[in-house]
Amino acid sequence: VQAKNRPFERSFDLLCPGPVNVHPQIASALTSFEFGHREEELSWLLDDMRRNFLAVAGVDSDRYTAVFLTGSGTSANESVLATAVAEDDTVLVIHNGEFGERLARISRIYNERTVCVRHDWGERIDLERVAEALSQHDVDVVVMVHHETSTGMLNPVEEVGRLAHEKGARFVVDAVSSFSADTLDIERAHVTFLTTSSGKAIGSYPGLAIVLGSHDAFRRLGSRSPRCHYLDLYRYYEFAENNVQTPNTPALPLMLALNRSLEMILAEGMPARLERLARLAAHVRRRARDHDLEVVVKSEPRSSVLTSILLPDDLPFEQFRQALREHGFVIYGGKGPYEDRMFQVSTIGAIDIGLIDDFFTALADVFFALRRAQRARRSAVA
Ligand SMILES: *Cc1c(COP(=O)(O)O)cnc(C)c1O
Repeated sequence: VQAKNRPFERSFDLLCPGPVNVHPQIASALTSFEFGHREEELSWLLDDMRRNFLAVAGVDSDRYTAVFLTGSGTSANESVLATAVAEDDTVLVIHNGEFGERLARISRIYNERTVCVRHDWGERIDLERVAEALSQHDVDVVVMVHHETSTGMLNPVEEVGRLAHEKGARFVVDAVSSFSADTLDIERAHVTFLTTSSGKAIGSYPGLAIVLGSHDAFRRLGSRSPRCHYLDLYRYYEFAENNVQTPNTPALPLMLALNRSLEMILAEGMPARLERLARLAAHVRRRARDHDLEVVVKSEPRSSVLTSILLPDDLPFEQFRQALREHGFVIYGGKGPYEDRMFQVSTIGAIDIGLIDDFFTALADVFFALRRAQRARRSAVA
């Protein structure tokens, strides 16, 4: 693998929505400090990280808190669906893509009464159908994805949150890929629990899962009998509240890196950051148009995290992906109905406009080379 000469020197540029290009300052934080993870330094780190996280979330740090689990984003979702939802609760999952469907699958394991408002992938959430489902069923918990990563669609969390709140239902939001990149007013949306992870828009390494909720919401979990041990949210809350510790061995290096990335986000400032990420995503869409490529989500609201682009029909996805790898770029393709039909260009992590332009130059080279090879094969046959 040929290392490319750029400010963030690495073997590959990761244009996928996690893992992401990690900034060198975050990389160096990983090994910045050695200490025993049951010493007071862990408490300082946890306290600092929690405060930074809540500041990025834009919530009142007296009312809200966050717990940090070792695991990927799914473990945050599973911890909420298994331990913040009582067995006999009715759960309404609203989905319009791969990650929403996964929430429904996880919920069904723990909660017999799981009902869904199903949409096609890439279809806008229909608020009328949501309201209808809420009045049909006696719903205790509403669950949905903020940024549906499988398409790039941004879902109407605030509107659904208002509907859930009117019905007295709790509201769980999977913001695993969107947190810190797409605007979300957590308090106004009446979010009970929000999940995210260290390795997506936050821009650090994968391996930490985060659950944000109000103190009231966490405290209420204390009266339930746990349905699992490691992912029991209340244990994390209790340990954090009582002695600012984690119940099990914390992934210390990942916490150091995560905290550095949160500090960098706060140093840039959320408004400037949101604007920069929106500009990068708009730049990708402009470049796609320059190359006559069609994007999947054609109108606002759409995410600043990634752009899904349809692959021209004459080009085989796997060859396209491999050829881009040879140019040093890693991209992901589509799943479900978009399998082999699209690719995604994600612009979170250490990515700038110049890198996006380099990517589209490589893409043009790859298109040209693949089509020339196809023509050569055809004329050899003829
Ligand atoms: C990535 C992602 C997840 C969780 O994925 P992990 O592989 O467990 O980190 C969940 N929801 C959404 C919306 C995601 O983008």
